[in-house]
Amino acid sequence: MNCQHLDEYLAPYLDNELGKEERKEIEDHLSTCSLCRERLEEEGRIKSLLKKKVPWAKVPFGLRERILAQMESASGGFSERVFSLFSLKSFPATATATLGVIVVLGLFLYLRTETPLQAAPILVESVNDHIHAISRVSPVEFASSNPEEITVWFRGRVSIPIHTPSLEGWTLIGGKVCYFSDRRVACLSYERGGDIISLYMCEGSGIPLRGMRENRAQGQTYQSGSHMGYNGLFWKDGDLLCFLIAPLEKEELIQLASQGG
Ligand SMILES: [Zn+2]
Repeated sequence: MNCQHLDEYLAPYLDNELGKEERKEIEDHLSTCSLCRERLEEEGRIKSLLKKKVPWAKVPFGLRERILAQMESASGGFSERVFSLFSLKSFPATATATLGVIVVLGLFLYLRTETPLQAAPILVESVNDHIHAISRVSPVEFASSNPEEITVWFRGRVSIPIHTPSLEGWTLIGGKVCYFSDRRVACLSYERGGDIISLYMCEGSGIPLRGMRENRAQGQTYQSGSHMGYNGLFWKDGDLLCFLIAPLEKEELIQLASQGG
């Protein structure tokens, strides 16, 4: 192993992709060559910097479905279709195109493996958030059982005024702000005998609710769906989209929603 040879192995070495023998060869060289040790350190710094500094792009609601629809209908080359979707052809730089391929392939694999196609993104995101919240010591950011106090706390934190309803039989425990795809969402948490339910509210335009069942009760239309064993109920209140995620039956969710405004 010499310095030039080692160059090719730096990245796979840092990524733990090498076999025992190759690792040993590299480590032997590193123990005798300070120049290569420096290069290794530099490479490691760049790697961790990239991990920290490259932000995850927020994918707007509906993009996931548009991409899947394009891919499903694609009879010819899948990459060509996806490229036309992103209009990457107008960017001549190879680097941009390469990055595009990586992003699209990553997204493709993520979509294929992580979420069932039929669940609306907003349902998946809210169930994930709910599960995450109930597994924490405190599911809320601002703890209070006073509805007015919580309503005031949300002012300026979310883009649309929200109200804090009282739900019969449930104790208000507080609120938090979450970020779903392209918008901020207010989340209220309620507790009853160790069970926690989450009531989310956000500006409702442009959020697809496809793949859910429509229910009508007391003049209001509700969309319901389930994901990972949790039921979700969605309804419109003016410009607000409200949704409840809970380990409860749909009928009970509708009953709660009718108190939720
Ligand atoms: Zn060297």
